[in-house]
Amino acid sequence: MRDPDLRLDELLQRGRRKAETLKLLNVKVPSSMLERIDRLATLLPATKSEIVVALLNEGLVTAEKQLQGWRPPPKPSIPKERRCIVKGCERERVAKGLCATHYQAQRRAVMAGKPSPIPENGAH
Ligand SMILES: [Zn+2]
Repeated sequence: MRDPDLRLDELLQRGRRKAETLKLLNVKVPSSMLERIDRLATLLPATKSEIVVALLNEGLVTAEKQLQGWRPPPKPSIPKERRCIVKGCERERVAKGLCATHYQAQRRAVMAGKPSPIPENGAH
């Protein structure tokens, strides 16, 4: 298997190949899928690696097209009464009025014998 851009239609026509370093991708797939890959490999004929690479290329091109311009939805904002007491911090409280980041920062400072980086009554 030498062509990283291999597509299914090329497997049907068996065009040119270019040299490419192959790396092992250890992925668990359902056994029914393996049987279908085996069947395709026998039918075309091609190696199982060629079938997998061709199918991945087809899927990646489709996914890239579908995801063009897509942005993840914005994170829901935490209600004020559940926000960290540190000014400007929008994260959710987990302990002593602080978010995980600020709680850990305070714990580390206290354990190191340093003054707390967060004011005692650090309200909004
Ligand atoms: Zn915080």
